[in-house]
Amino acid sequence: MKKTAFFLTLLVITFLIIYFNINSTNNKKISLNSNVAFENKSFINVVKPLTDDEKIYLKEQDDEKDSSKENNNEEKDNLNIDDWKLVLVNYENALPENFEIKLANIDKTRKFDSRAISYLNDMLKAMRKDGIENVWVQSAYRSIEYQKGLYNDKINSYIKLGKTREEAEELTLKKINKPGTSEHNLGLSVDFNYVDYTFDETKGFKWLQENAENYGFILRYKKEKEDITKIDYEPWHWRFVGVENAKKMNELDMCLEEYIEYRKK
Ligand SMILES: [Zn+2]
Repeated sequence: MKKTAFFLTLLVITFLIIYFNINSTNNKKISLNSNVAFENKSFINVVKPLTDDEKIYLKEQDDEKDSSKENNNEEKDNLNIDDWKLVLVNYENALPENFEIKLANIDKTRKFDSRAISYLNDMLKAMRKDGIENVWVQSAYRSIEYQKGLYNDKINSYIKLGKTREEAEELTLKKINKPGTSEHNLGLSVDFNYVDYTFDETKGFKWLQENAENYGFILRYKKEKEDITKIDYEPWHWRFVGVENAKKMNELDMCLEEYIEYRKK
């Protein structure tokens, strides 16, 4: 009898153990399922329609990407033309008022861009070596302030002669570049001798036509380019653009305006 009772107890215990085991496995299964359910729920979160805030955020991110793309393109364009030797200053491209430049002295009063002055000095030396003594720099760098003074003095002189301010300004523009639109404000141009048309009959002019490109200088305002430069022929005005550019411009027979367009392509 005792034995039977013992086996019965054992049976009950075994039954209970099996029962609880199954239950706990089921619980695990349930908790596993709830994990899946949770993950599914978070998945649903990702694909659910965006809130307005999220839309705005994403649009801003896109815009940022777009504008950085644009900036990269701008940088590429600038790589071609953003060369200090090729800065274009003319009737429609003025230098900024706060334009800064490091100057070096040609002589006691005349100044030139310090990055280019050695080319100018070498050119003048070579000219003398070839027997040309009578070529000198008459005018080089002019500050925008100085240009303003010239410009305003001229306007006032016309007003004193009885012109209205408007008439005076119109007349002045024919003689003097507006401050900031003269290549002399850039510090890369020189006028030789007396700013005289007969300069192109001199040996010095002939020498410059043949050799200036080897020192990075070009005749800036040619007769046949007046339509483009909007400046009358000036045999005395020479501009530094660097040796490579000067040679290429002569080879292609292009003025600076044309050459810059050509380089942009
Ligand atoms: Zn000049």
